[in-house]
Amino acid sequence: MNLKILILTGILFSVQAKEEKPEITLISVYDNYQVAPELKTAWGFATIIKTPRELILFDTGGNPEILLSNMEKLGVEPSSIKKVVISHIHGDHAGGLEGFLEKNPDATVFIPASFPRSIKNMIIQKGAKFVEISTPRKISDSVYTTGELYGPPEEQSLIIDSKKGLIVITGCAHPGIVNIVKKAKKLMKKDKVYLVVGGFHHPPISCVKEFRKLQVKKVAPSHCTGDLVREAFRKEYKEDFIEYGVGKVIEIK
Ligand SMILES: [Zn+2]
Ligand SMILES: [Zn+2]
Repeated sequence: MNLKILILTGILFSVQAKEEKPEITLISVYDNYQVAPELKTAWGFATIIKTPRELILFDTGGNPEILLSNMEKLGVEPSSIKKVVISHIHGDHAGGLEGFLEKNPDATVFIPASFPRSIKNMIIQKGAKFVEISTPRKISDSVYTTGELYGPPEEQSLIIDSKKGLIVITGCAHPGIVNIVKKAKKLMKKDKVYLVVGGFHHPPISCVKEFRKLQVKKVAPSHCTGDLVREAFRKEYKEDFIEYGVGKVIEIK
């Protein structure tokens, strides 16, 4: 093969590689619902997003000892996580952050811009960095934040452009789970959503039908969704309902 062809195939490959959507793994490390009995449950939410490039921790639960103990049992080193995203200020999502940063001060923390000075100072005191989020932006390859949406409080959710389609991950969904899904579709200019996972914040039962209208293929409601709504989703979505809770691993490939 001469040099010209080599360069040409190189360019072609890099274009293809750029368009390739990534395989994603989600690991629940903190939730009040349980999937793996050897892990600890507590009120709160934290999920690790594994992309081909890096590990991102979305929320930190309420208690750093529980978070770190669950991560250890799942074989995730705190130092392997370079990015942390905090959805909103409530203690069951942000409470584990300080203890996590004590184990890994090299992380960059993506926080809602509205967070008080005290949290921003704490992050700096631990030796970590923070990035203030107000509008939608990219966090990593194929991973985006919705930006701050008003609940109260202000909250950000994540959107992943995966191999199977859009994945939306919410902490507590204070701005409304249906609003968040609509926002994600609009931002990414997509008609369908492959998976919505996280706390849905006690929505009305009618949100199950709304999800169908919004063309959401799979659901993994946990944390603050409420048992009644969770069961309504299970009944409607059948094999597309994913039992999410601490220890659950979802592979999207
Ligand atoms: Zn909350
Ligand atoms: Zn919560």
